[in-house]
Amino acid sequence: MEQLTRTLDDLPGAPVEVPYATATGSGDGPHLTVIAGVHGAEYTGMAALMRLIATLPTDRLQGRLTVVPVLNQPAFWSRTPFVVPVDGANLNRSFPGDPAGSYTEALAHGLFEAFIAPTDVLLDLHAGDLPEALEPFCLYEESPVEEQARALALVYGTGHVVRQTRAARTVGGSTSAAAADRGIPAITAEIGANGICDPASVAGHLQGVHNVLVALGMLPEEFAVPAATPVEHEGWVWLRTPLRGFWQASVAVGADVRTGDELGVLLDPWGAELHRVVAPADGVPLFLTSSPAVDADGLLLGLARA
Ligand SMILES: [Zn+2]
Repeated sequence: MEQLTRTLDDLPGAPVEVPYATATGSGDGPHLTVIAGVHGAEYTGMAALMRLIATLPTDRLQGRLTVVPVLNQPAFWSRTPFVVPVDGANLNRSFPGDPAGSYTEALAHGLFEAFIAPTDVLLDLHAGDLPEALEPFCLYEESPVEEQARALALVYGTGHVVRQTRAARTVGGSTSAAAADRGIPAITAEIGANGICDPASVAGHLQGVHNVLVALGMLPEEFAVPAATPVEHEGWVWLRTPLRGFWQASVAVGADVRTGDELGVLLDPWGAELHRVVAPADGVPLFLTSSPAVDADGLLLGLARA
């Protein structure tokens, strides 16, 4: 793959250099862009994309592939979970961005125009961030191109797939939501947890990308490993805490929970129970905050609806 760097120098602050790679195959096919590192401490997708750049059989490729291992450079180099350190905003709530907005909004705009707007299909690789446990899943948005996105989510190889409706969008301004709004089929794929760059999760993401390349007709069938049929969820509930406390989850990610089941408790500084969190619906927690330190209105877990 050709190794390049894109410089974003029209930001209200320090310019950002984004290394990426691209390859154009011999035959016809779509332009797929695969990104990782929208969140700076979610390393499994970054490592998988570096391995993809090193090992892609470009002589077998059809169409065009662009790979961006670390999209959010300021967050990566400062080891900052969730947000851009310059202004504390979440890049994945800021797309498609605004060139006249805050630093993060301008960064989102520059990245969106450079890497997302020009593509036919988008794949965005994530993991549980530093304080986050996670069960592997893929997410796609309700949109006119959702059937194409769903097909890619089903082959990626995660055990769970969540469809997010426009009305119940828990995450606005994400890469996949902004892409869907432009008619670009997109999925967010999550494998790995707690900022750990473990080999199994890296391999899972790499295989997922290969499966998508095969599904799009960009690589021959031999590069795919057929995935078991995932459980599909119609939306999810994100639970937040009404008060600051010492959070102790009672369930593990991937568990089946029923309405009314205890999901965890918040303790006061001396260990007494302040608040009990119960499941508002049947479902499966796909991510949960593993750090006990949660502030008022802090996110506790994401419960995919059964
Ligand atoms: Zn993320």
